[in-house]
Amino acid sequence: TLSARDVSAWFGDRKVLERVSLDMNAGSVTALIGPSGCGKSTFLRILNRMHELVPSASLAGEVRLGDDDIYGAGRRITDTRKRIGMVFQKPNPFPAMSIAENVTAGLKLTGTKVSRGARADLVEECLTRAGLWAEVRDRLRQPGGALSGGQQQRLCIARSLAVRPDVLLMDEPCSALDPTSTRRIEETIHDLRQDVTIVIVTHNMQQAARVSQHCAFFLAEQGTPGHIVEAGPTERIFGDPADERTSDYVNGRF
Ligand code: ATP
Ligand code: MG
Repeated sequence: TLSARDVSAWFGDRKVLERVSLDMNAGSVTALIGPSGCGKSTFLRILNRMHELVPSASLAGEVRLGDDDIYGAGRRITDTRKRIGMVFQKPNPFPAMSIAENVTAGLKLTGTKVSRGARADLVEECLTRAGLWAEVRDRLRQPGGALSGGQQQRLCIARSLAVRPDVLLMDEPCSALDPTSTRRIEETIHDLRQDVTIVIVTHNMQQAARVSQHCAFFLAEQGTPGHIVEAGPTERIFGDPADERTSDYVNGRF
């Protein structure tokens, strides 16, 4: 379980998140939904320690992965990165690097050791899990930048998987993609969720309903910091929300 407790966040003296608490469970997909600017991406970046890279940024609260406090004394960012991968809205493969090299690029960055002989197997395994293997098996030496947008996004998923993360964070991973690529990635999410805790930000309510088992609705009302209005099983959030604002949002009345 990835667990956030009373997480607040600031940029300079502007507070953008107010005491967000959420448990994201292994074996299921959690969707973060809510209007633009309510702090979903900021929350995601706090979960893998990217938030602290912004010079003006600060935060309070606690994030635990299992028993491990990822912000605890002596904890290193690289250890977090190894366990918690991230995929962004805009696919960002290394364009000049080959497809195969892209998959293994994260190993060096996170200090993960894989023998030369095991690399080819790892490349095949990760591309297969990301639903891209059949399309690229004959062109592994071509540059990552030569792939279509949807293929590039699946390559980025494969790259994240190569370090065998416990958690995969996805920030609007399909919003730049066509419907076919989107469907492929949804299938991948579905297959991965047995082994990897997945947290996905999406503005697409149908997608949230299709891929997630848990859902958290974020809102930042009139200049107040973003907070969670309600969270729970996706079926309940969509079918029987407790808060009128949730009902309005999931039904497109926002
Ligand atoms: P969207 O759905 O549009 O992606 P979001 O829910 O992901 O929105 P965030 O990007 O987390 O929202 O932004 C939350 C708030 O923090 C916004 O008011 C935004 O302007 C502010 N913010 C985000 N990044 C920074 C930054 N680097 N410096 C200053 N303010 C920022
Ligand atoms: Mg965002």
